[in-house]
Amino acid sequence: MSHYDFDLFVIGAGSGGVRASRMAAGFGARVGVAEDLYLGGTCVNVGCVPKKLFAYSAHYSEDFEDAKGYGWELPDAHFDWPALLENKNQEIARLNGIYRNMLKASGVTIMDARARFIDSHTLQVGDKQITAEHILIATGGWPHIPEFPGSEHVISSNEVFHLETLPKRTLVVGGGYIAIEFASIFHGMQREVSLLYRGELFLRGFDISLREHMAATIKQKGIDLRFNADVRNIERQADGSLLVALKDGTTLETDLVLYATGRKPNLKGLGLENTAVTLDDKGFIAVNSDYETQDPSIYAIGDVTDTLQLTPVALAEGMALARRLFQPADYIPVDYRDIPTAVFCIPNIATLGLTEEQAREAGHALNIYESRFRPMRNTLAGRGEESLMKMIVDKASDRVLGVHMIGPDAGEIVQGMAVALKAGATKAMFDATLGIHPTAAEEFVTMRTPTRSD
Ligand code: FAD
Repeated sequence: MSHYDFDLFVIGAGSGGVRASRMAAGFGARVGVAEDLYLGGTCVNVGCVPKKLFAYSAHYSEDFEDAKGYGWELPDAHFDWPALLENKNQEIARLNGIYRNMLKASGVTIMDARARFIDSHTLQVGDKQITAEHILIATGGWPHIPEFPGSEHVISSNEVFHLETLPKRTLVVGGGYIAIEFASIFHGMQREVSLLYRGELFLRGFDISLREHMAATIKQKGIDLRFNADVRNIERQADGSLLVALKDGTTLETDLVLYATGRKPNLKGLGLENTAVTLDDKGFIAVNSDYETQDPSIYAIGDVTDTLQLTPVALAEGMALARRLFQPADYIPVDYRDIPTAVFCIPNIATLGLTEEQAREAGHALNIYESRFRPMRNTLAGRGEESLMKMIVDKASDRVLGVHMIGPDAGEIVQGMAVALKAGATKAMFDATLGIHPTAAEEFVTMRTPTRSD
């Protein structure tokens, strides 16, 4: 046994930290974890989980509208934000408890305090000093709001989950998935929503068909989309509302401004200056492919590094590191190809593998299969909205390189496609697969003729 207090000490009990702690303890290591805010980290407390609960809630307004076409007469429904908040808080508290029990049951020592490096093997955790042979930084990210006159009036995704009231009008600033999800959520909660993005078109990095289709869809729903626009300053008016002055000289009045303009690595007060850990040129902790920092006893995983900022990625990295350190015979490196992901706006977006642009840049000659259709559920509902499905196929090998979808339950559908792509599926294999009828998902196995071919 080493002379350190712990074999592994983990800073941050979020997605990656909890997974690494539990796995390492399961392999027989003496593990401790420090968490100063909330067990489960961003995902459980101010990310994936409460966001998805809000998205479910927001969907009811369309469900109530659609129900009429299916013969349901509903009394006037009204939305109760405090009730949603209270139920969400209870659910999160339940999950926090599950995380605590899981860690304890695995034999992990939990320290509910902030950790700070004293040297490469020593940490100050609250009022205690501990030593560890290996230290893992899994401190995640933190919302970044640029400074400008009036920036003190805006909130980030951290505060949105605890608002006491949900005002009538909201302005969402940002073009990434969190901005679009919240624009959809507020709209579904029958609020007036504007979405402002400084670029040409939101969802940079997603397939162009998805980006254009989504912009048209949410615009048609009534979200006020403003691209090529940016905030100059914000003033609080006498009646409590906010006057937002834009850089093009126009103004906009709203009650709440949510900035979803990216996240930065959470390094505040970590004491990295007392270690040999270095940062990369974007400010993330620099690691090699084994999650090793420049300091031989210190590792980093998840959002604090320049990786894909997704919970399953942090989980996979936590698992891989625990194996590499304490069960090397079972070590499997994380495969970063073909990672599926969803945007829980209404309707959902899901995406997997290469976009059309990425596939072309990689030099593939392509067959593109694209289908736009009204899902059956929308027929009696009288909803004109179309779903989009797109497959990117390499002409030479027939391999499916990318699968993209907008439509109800896109995330649920594309998860299954991810297994097929991991297995190296060709378009011929998709064609040889029978559909489940009648579903929207069957469209992925019935698209026979390329929409475009190189
Ligand atoms: P985190 O989960 O952020 O955990 C880090 C933990 O470290 C935190 O609990 C923090 O309090 C703690 N900590 C920090 N510094 C210290 C310190 N010095 N001492 C002690 N503790 C410390 N991902 C998805 O896959 N799907 C989604 O739908 C999704 N939705 C999201 C929605 C929102 C609004 C946000 C913000 C994120 C979302 N994500 C989603 C991303 C996902 O939450 C993150 O990728 C994931 O949580 C990263 O895990 P992590 O372990 O790196 O860090």
